[in-house]
Amino acid sequence: MIEDVFRAHIAPSRIFSNRDALSPHYVPESLPNREEQIAELSKTLAPVLSGRKPENVFIYGKPGVGKTAVTKYVLRKLEDFAREHGIPVRSVYINCRIHDSRHRVILKVAEALFPGESFLGLATTYIFDRVLEKVREGGIRLIVVLDEIDRLKGVAEVVYMLNRANDELERGSISLIGISNNLTFKDALDPGTKSTLCQKEMIFPPYNAEELRRILEERAKIAFREGAVDPSAIALAAAYAAKQSGDARFALALLLRAGEIAEEEGTERVTEVHVRKARERVEEDIILDMIRALPQQEQIVLLALARLVAARRGIRKLGEDGSVVTSGELFDAYVKTARELGVSPVSDRWFREYISDLDMYGIIRATQAGKGFRGNTRIIRLNVPAEKVLKVLEGMETG
Ligand code: ADP
Ligand code: MG
Repeated sequence: MIEDVFRAHIAPSRIFSNRDALSPHYVPESLPNREEQIAELSKTLAPVLSGRKPENVFIYGKPGVGKTAVTKYVLRKLEDFAREHGIPVRSVYINCRIHDSRHRVILKVAEALFPGESFLGLATTYIFDRVLEKVREGGIRLIVVLDEIDRLKGVAEVVYMLNRANDELERGSISLIGISNNLTFKDALDPGTKSTLCQKEMIFPPYNAEELRRILEERAKIAFREGAVDPSAIALAAAYAAKQSGDARFALALLLRAGEIAEEEGTERVTEVHVRKARERVEEDIILDMIRALPQQEQIVLLALARLVAARRGIRKLGEDGSVVTSGELFDAYVKTARELGVSPVSDRWFREYISDLDMYGIIRATQAGKGFRGNTRIIRLNVPAEKVLKVLEGMETG
């Protein structure tokens, strides 16, 4: 009955008391195991309160190690303190994955300083002059956070423009905090940009299993009903995430999924069994998200592979591995699929690049074929269920 489906959603959950506390957007009141980083960032930014421009900070570390959470946390505390003491400190948080050009960054800063005003269609330099005017008038000490800065096109120009403004400002200042998941990003910057952006550097280490366990425990207290999670379930989720490069986002996603699975099963307690099931699903979710974000040609390669695998499974003989194809077979299937979609297929050379990319992402596994195969034939295995890939890619939009 459709009513039963609806009813399930208004019935109080036997597992969760506040599911949102496990969402990636939730900013927790405390960040265990990041006390040092919080203290250091606070100390670096504190001079802004006495009117000195803080050093620009560059923060880096692997995904899910608390870079964004710590930065937002410290800035919130700093702005609260400044407000109480009548000091004009303002911060603007910008995610460069979404706002990925100089124009968009400046626009975002302006929108924060002039709420409700539209700058659409205006030139970047004009918008930036308005920003400077505002900063000068109010003696505003502005801190601009460029999160996922490696996604920003023209990093050098943006850093230069924002930083150089300090030379023209008699009152107020603009400081930068750059954040990146990419450990080698800063080494690729030109020396000038690097020395400007990285006046102060902070590296966030991955969490170990014990640290992740504490983080999960704190969050579980808010998210779950009392006694609804086995401590061993939390420990297992922490251990899995510690293996997955110490990623707290992964740990939280795992716990949320485990809770949802327990709920679906109608049990009252989340156990290790649910965490194990959750791991399979979460890993798959991550890969499927990755597939959605792939360039179109790589999606076509993958679509062709999933179709081959799915078709083969039907006619698989005993003992044969249906999820394996050769690179030659796949190339032919790819060319056919591309044509069907009205897309020009790429050459064999590019095709091999794509195979290497997909292998690097862990979506497929490509190994050199041994004796009995032509020259550089590779054996290709799909690491995700073909049905899932088809679900994501069938009905793909083509341009
Ligand atoms: P990063 O920016 O390094 O990729 P985030 O700051 O976005 O990582 O953290 C990922 C998730 O883990 C967020 O939901 C965040 O709230 C949570 N998290 C990270 N570190 C901690 C911590 N020390 N305590 C509690 N939650 C944390
Ligand atoms: Mg982040």
